[in-house]
Amino acid sequence: MAQRYLIVGMGAASIAAAEAIRSRDPGGEILLVSEEGDGYYSRPGLAYYLSGEVPEQQLFPFTEDDFDRLHLRRLHARVASLQPQSREVALEDGRRLPYDRLLLATGSLAVQVGLPGVELDGVVKLDDVGDARRILKRCRRGRTAVVVGGGITALELVEGLHARRVHTHYFLRGDRYWSSVLDETESKIVEQRLQEEGVQIHYHSEVAEVLGKRGRVTGVLTQDGRRIDCDLVGIAIGVRPRMELAEGAGLATERGILVDEHLQTSVPDVFAAGDVAQVFDPFSGKSVLDTLWGVAVAQGRVAGRNMTDQSEAYHKSVPFNVTRLAGLTTTIIGTVGRGRDKDVRGIARGDSETWRHLPDSFAAQDVSDVNRLRLLVGEQRLLGALVMGEQTLSRPLYQLVAHQADVTPIRDRLLHPSARLGDLVASFWAEWRERHEAA
Ligand SMILES: Cc1cc2nc3c(=O)[nH]c(=O)nc-3n(C[C@H](O)[C@H](O)[C@H](O)COP(=O)(O)OP(=O)(O)OC[C@H]3O[C@@H](n4cnc5c(N)ncnc54)[C@H](O)[C@@H]3O)c2cc1C
Repeated sequence: MAQRYLIVGMGAASIAAAEAIRSRDPGGEILLVSEEGDGYYSRPGLAYYLSGEVPEQQLFPFTEDDFDRLHLRRLHARVASLQPQSREVALEDGRRLPYDRLLLATGSLAVQVGLPGVELDGVVKLDDVGDARRILKRCRRGRTAVVVGGGITALELVEGLHARRVHTHYFLRGDRYWSSVLDETESKIVEQRLQEEGVQIHYHSEVAEVLGKRGRVTGVLTQDGRRIDCDLVGIAIGVRPRMELAEGAGLATERGILVDEHLQTSVPDVFAAGDVAQVFDPFSGKSVLDTLWGVAVAQGRVAGRNMTDQSEAYHKSVPFNVTRLAGLTTTIIGTVGRGRDKDVRGIARGDSETWRHLPDSFAAQDVSDVNRLRLLVGEQRLLGALVMGEQTLSRPLYQLVAHQADVTPIRDRLLHPSARLGDLVASFWAEWRERHEAA
């Protein structure tokens, strides 16, 4: 009998799992069920779609031929519940689907705020391509927007709206942008660039109420009594893993679905991967969430292999994300930040909790104009790095952090106040690579 593999979700983790299963089990039945009618597309690409840099069709990396080649069946439906005892899931319309192995790759959704007026037409979020389309439609009529929240998604909303000629007010609860990951200088660089573009940043500002007329947004009232007229309100204050199915079935959960090193949940033959999975992190010694595309792919791959009787442990690698902040390419590697951020409740999109653990380390930094290099230097190795602007050193730094290269020979020089970090890292990496490749 062919094995029946059932995958809930059709995002990065799901597709990676399906590919991994197919590479090991040519005859198994693979069914992907997703409530999103748009199927598989790049969520990080939504920012570029919003700003007009990428047309919608470029968001879709898979063609019909790709699905056929892998013999993947797809179903557009919402899974309403999971019954592990009888090894089946129930769809919202009452149908039941049996499985031998199940993957929950249900992703995460934007955290909702409980403000008066959030139900008004014109209050938007950015979870999926449907949201992006709605925002673009609104931009045609909209003139002014208020965006609330920290992290990457809020900034993507700000930049996308601004690119569509919508005058944008950006509300920050604290005194700077993304304080859990960026340091003060980096936040300032981002904020200044936004302000130069014409974005109005409001520090220490919170929305008390979204105002409306005939069901549509007309403005916001701030907690300190100011009124700002606008026709759009974008909210991106963090995301929450979608654990409804797991919780309903009694699987072990904390902030995400808890999985073991094989990405199996507390119930046999039920696996979890991607934004929804809470995974042990050897770097911090804690069980953490990551909401990163690359992590979802890596986890999906391992979960898929384990669903086909292979036994492979998932090793969480050093977090690595290349993103764009106010037009500046920024790479974040390993540990770089300081913990919680008032603007983000939980975890932000494109974020790794590992970035936000304060390590026992020193920061060494190099700033020239908008280019910036910040290293977190531990006793013997680099714990993390942030590279903003010029990107030549991103890959070398990733290798040094990921391979835990011993930086003792240059440690004192790195920490010297007038160190030329870029030059030091570049020459150290060249020597290290030679030794590493020879070994
Ligand atoms: C605007 C935006 C910008 C981002 N930027 C970055 C970035 O710069 N860098 C980066 O690394 N990451 C970024 N991310 C995050 C990245 O896209 C996610 O980490 C990744 O998509 C997670 O993949 P996943 O497979 O776990 O879940 P998802 O891609 O979220 O897929 C889960 C799917 O499951 C479906 N589903 C859930 N429950 C059910 C159910 N009960 N029944 C049926 N279907 C269900 C959902 O509808 C969804 O389609 C961004 C995300 C967004 C939205």
